[in-house]
Amino acid sequence: MSLVELARPEIQALHAYAAAQQVDNTIRLNANESPRLDRDDRFRRPLNRYPEVRPRKLQSALARRFGCDTDQLLVTRGSSEAIDLLVRSFCRAGRDSVLTTSPSFSMYRHYAAVQGAKVIEVPTHADSDFATDMDALLAACENDTRLIFICSPNNPTGTTVPRADLENLLERRAGRSAVVVDEAYIEFGDSASTVELLRRYPNLLVLRTLSKALALAGARCGAVIGQEPVIRMLSAVQSPYALATPVVECVEDALQTERLTQAEADVEGIVAERERLIAAIAKYDFVHRVWPSAGNFFLVQVDDAQRVMQHCAERRILLRYFGGDLADCIRISVGSVTENDELLRTLSKLEES
Ligand code: PMP
Repeated sequence: MSLVELARPEIQALHAYAAAQQVDNTIRLNANESPRLDRDDRFRRPLNRYPEVRPRKLQSALARRFGCDTDQLLVTRGSSEAIDLLVRSFCRAGRDSVLTTSPSFSMYRHYAAVQGAKVIEVPTHADSDFATDMDALLAACENDTRLIFICSPNNPTGTTVPRADLENLLERRAGRSAVVVDEAYIEFGDSASTVELLRRYPNLLVLRTLSKALALAGARCGAVIGQEPVIRMLSAVQSPYALATPVVECVEDALQTERLTQAEADVEGIVAERERLIAAIAKYDFVHRVWPSAGNFFLVQVDDAQRVMQHCAERRILLRYFGGDLADCIRISVGSVTENDELLRTLSKLEES
């Protein structure tokens, strides 16, 4: 069974936008573009022309990087856009639900609210290191649970969901829910991507982003990966020309071997810094606990989260506070060596005060 059958009926019936043909070495009077090429245009594809409806070369380069076929991947404006596309495509407003764990990335909830989809949250707990209880998660699924978002490594806890649990979930929800594994931070941990499970599980969708390990958050580029029919359907929902020419060319350049080798080395550096920070921060008296993390961030439990936040903010260091179940926790992103040194100096002052 294809995942397409779980999508909203209107979306299943949708056809891709019929865009004007784009053929090189032709006089192009078919797209109401301007013939005027700016003298300072520095792009390989001139900016007076629309970009490709879908950036094919970039799509192939990302597919190679993420280990799937070109037609199993849709390039999106960050993985945020992919989350939006999925919720809009699969959830009938007022009827279908999205299931996610808590605490996790808030965009799943956000886009569910935009679409009018119900949200089911399965809590995870600090005292069990935020492990996902798969039985509880399966029990929480309803008939109309169309999407299950599993963020692994999870933002903001840093937790990884074991591969066996993911496979169990994929099997148990086969034909009933899409299991969306958000791998935004996967490069910072030791787990392999679930993309390799794609052939076995038609209900698997994987989200990847270039915002973290490739240091391209400003380019807004990510991808959703799945079997070909569901990717074709999502492509029909996404705006035509979604990826702007400057972005496409900037990301194509960033995917050159030399730049990727540098990015990999940088990720290793971030991971080493993460471990250095965790070890140093765990020693402060005002810190109760630091959870291990497979991301470029980690979660810390402290005596007085507001005091730590304020102390750092007054010294121009911003940390992330969530409140709610994480009222005594702070998430710290790993910065450069200099930034991290400054953070440790600042926290040492707090320890002494
Ligand atoms: N997924 C997770 C888990 C994230 O933490 C983020 C960003 N913080 C995203 C997706 C979205 O990232 P982007 O849209 O930049 O790809």
